[in-house]
Amino acid sequence: MRLFLRFLLILVTLSPWVTANAKGVDYYDVRYQAALKPETGMADVTITLSGDELPSKLTLHLKPARHHNIEGDGDIEMDGDKAIWTPKGKTSSIHYQFKIDKKKGSGHYDSRITDDWAILRTDKLIPPISTRAPQRLHSRATLEITTPKNWRSLAPYQKDEAGVFILKDDGRRFIRPKGWMIAGDLGSRQEFIDGTDTVVAGPRGKDIRRQDTLAFLNWTLPELKKVFPLFPDKLLIVMAPDPMWRGGLSGTRSLFIHSDRPLISGNRTSSLLHELIHVGTGIRGDKESDWIVEGIAEYYSLQTLRRTGGISERRYQETMEKLAAWGEESPDLLVKRSSGPITARAAVVMGEIDLYIQSASDGERSLDDVVTAMAADRGEITLDRFRKLAEEAAGSEVPQLDRTFLSGKKKP
Ligand SMILES: [Zn+2]
Repeated sequence: MRLFLRFLLILVTLSPWVTANAKGVDYYDVRYQAALKPETGMADVTITLSGDELPSKLTLHLKPARHHNIEGDGDIEMDGDKAIWTPKGKTSSIHYQFKIDKKKGSGHYDSRITDDWAILRTDKLIPPISTRAPQRLHSRATLEITTPKNWRSLAPYQKDEAGVFILKDDGRRFIRPKGWMIAGDLGSRQEFIDGTDTVVAGPRGKDIRRQDTLAFLNWTLPELKKVFPLFPDKLLIVMAPDPMWRGGLSGTRSLFIHSDRPLISGNRTSSLLHELIHVGTGIRGDKESDWIVEGIAEYYSLQTLRRTGGISERRYQETMEKLAAWGEESPDLLVKRSSGPITARAAVVMGEIDLYIQSASDGERSLDDVVTAMAADRGEITLDRFRKLAEEAAGSEVPQLDRTFLSGKKKP
């Protein structure tokens, strides 16, 4: 009996090891460290790998305008915009400097450091990295942000007791941070909304409507999550005034939105809801399918307002009519980038597809079923995939998904 108990105890103690090896998985650690330096406008970045076995090669896909002074242990070879790193031993590091400021156009920044705060995307700070490693070798990763005194940092990840972000990226063997981050002298408000740990943050004293935004999310997010059940369990909303980009930009489990943007615009669309739907779907279009991504974001931002009683039926119809009139300026949806009139027409087409599916299925199905399925897959969406899902829901062909109609060459 004692022997059996001891055996059981050993088994329990070793159970993480047992589970890891039962699945044939071995781990190594990736430690990302970034020191934010307002005086140089740079982040000094170190990536350290440690473990009994490390990937034999890592390829960092750099942006030469932003990633500078690459050096480290082992062997580093530059090949155009790529740094090919062969780590050495059981612990090996690579360092570089990252230029934080970046303008998106019209003089506005989508990445910025000042003496009081910094706003940037961690998936730009740490570039895409491909690894050569055996299938069973997986990473565990953390992100440590060092800042000037009295700054705080926020990213859409849990922190450990030491304030280090514990990264996760389901389904990826090599984990790197993704999404927006903000650091500085911050004002932030946090609330759990329908199971999502939601934080709204911005530089302190900058007239940022954190409470209004949380109230708006309390009212709309539960409705939105009915269509996007896999909506992240952590959401960071970063807000800041000029000279930041004067619109919204979604990221992984996070978004940036200019603090001047109203929660609902005069035309009853909502940039905040639009970006939240991008966060919820996690899809991107191929060379002709951006209209699907943007059309869904715009249509569901309106639908969410309508379903929650934020706008009346009459106002909803008026907005759809206005979008239809605007969309006539740009009838071809099958282009690489959708904006302005293309997104307007895309939203109207989504509305027509929704009604078509509802009537073809006797009210059993709707576009909700299609977008829920797309959001579960995430990744790249194509017209073929969208058509297949829509036809499954309708139980028949969907005339609005005919190429000649979508390219504006044929009226329905
Ligand atoms: Zn969009």
